[in-house]
Amino acid sequence: MIKEFNIIVVGAGAAGMMSAIEAGKRGRKVLLLDHAKKIGEKIRISGGGRCNFTNLNTDASKFISQNSNFVKSALKQYSHENFISLVESHKIKFHEKKLGQLFCDKSAQQIIDMLLLEAEKAKVTLKKEIFITDINMIDNEYIVSFGNNNYHCESLIIASGGLSIPKIGASKFGYDLARKFNLKVIETMPALVPLTFSEKILTMCKGLAGLSLEAVVSHNKTFFEEGMLFTHRGLSGPSILQISSYWKLGDEISINLSPNINILQFLIDKRSNSPKIDVSSIISEIIPKRLASIICLQNNVKGNISEISNKSLSKLSNSINNWFVKPIGTEGYRTAEVTLGGIDTNEISSKTMMSKKYPGLFFIGEVMDVTGHLGGYNFQWAWSSGYVAGQYA
Ligand SMILES: Cc1cc2nc3c(=O)[nH]c(=O)nc-3n(C[C@H](O)[C@H](O)[C@H](O)COP(=O)(O)OP(=O)(O)OC[C@H]3O[C@@H](n4cnc5c(N)ncnc54)[C@H](O)[C@@H]3O)c2cc1C
Repeated sequence: MIKEFNIIVVGAGAAGMMSAIEAGKRGRKVLLLDHAKKIGEKIRISGGGRCNFTNLNTDASKFISQNSNFVKSALKQYSHENFISLVESHKIKFHEKKLGQLFCDKSAQQIIDMLLLEAEKAKVTLKKEIFITDINMIDNEYIVSFGNNNYHCESLIIASGGLSIPKIGASKFGYDLARKFNLKVIETMPALVPLTFSEKILTMCKGLAGLSLEAVVSHNKTFFEEGMLFTHRGLSGPSILQISSYWKLGDEISINLSPNINILQFLIDKRSNSPKIDVSSIISEIIPKRLASIICLQNNVKGNISEISNKSLSKLSNSINNWFVKPIGTEGYRTAEVTLGGIDTNEISSKTMMSKKYPGLFFIGEVMDVTGHLGGYNFQWAWSSGYVAGQYA
């Protein structure tokens, strides 16, 4: 069977739905395909079920890409304010949790329902459980084949996402297609992912499991000041997830467990003013007691602060203000929130999201070499790039 559409969108996630809606609004005949049974699964599980759908602080600095300027045009064409207006127009209540992160008050399902309603209004044809077997370009038309069907279109939008969480539909479809068309793909890696640690660190973390604190976690010149959590599996929490997008195997990360206080100076002052107080008690004025005890134990310091040498105080304060940890890996795509790398942005027009080599072929969302920081930026990229492709496809 041969069917004609103006546009076929592969992947009915955040970016694909947005592009289909926008193109449909322009009167284009749009077919939106997904191999999954349920639509918008990543949206549903996002933000702990409340979907952190955008961030008030969205700008190019919150994205990682080989071309750091690439996102600017799309973010300008469709900003976080535009998406907030859409959410408001559907009377979905939301709140800022922290650091500009906007979450639904009730449930992420509200965002999925909003997109499905908009797609229906824009007369988008949605087909689920479609397993594409081939895509070819003949005479400036794209032919998408599945089963005995060949669907023809003038514009093909690839919105098949990244590799994270394969069990809810992630696939390497977009990367394979790009390679088939000889488009460069930047090496992919799990990002916003828990790091894994050696037995020594694990033992410490297990003893502290459940404890959280604000920390500055750094890798080279990049740092994040957000929550950090000790768990049975190691170190986790937003600051660790954020740094995972920059960390490379073999590198150390540095952790400041007390970002606002110079511990060495604090301990020296205490030694003059309160020499008879136990060093662990002094440190627990600043960091949680359990953590203070373990750090003192590891540094082999105990007793009144007056009895501790300058050298030991310096070593102790370094392990609080500048604790170097060498992760041994990451938990991989099984738990990663996003995929670093993807379709090289040099292949794509930043104004339209269309391939520079193949007129009518578009890439949007996470499949591209654009990765947002934690905090709603990845969805904003999906909305912005999806909107843009929807205007030009
Ligand atoms: C647990 C978790 C929580 C997250 N929380 C947040 C958050 O709160 N805020 C935020 O900004 N980001 C969050 N993210 C990241 C965000 O979900 C993604 O960056 C975003 O969904 C990417 O949108 P996308 O449309 O490009 O890809 P996706 O949403 O992954 O959509 C891709 C679609 O393509 C389909 N597909 C794949 N292969 C094929 C194929 N071969 N044929 C047909 N269809 C195919 C998939 O089934 C899927 O529906 C989270 C991610 C995870 C895993």
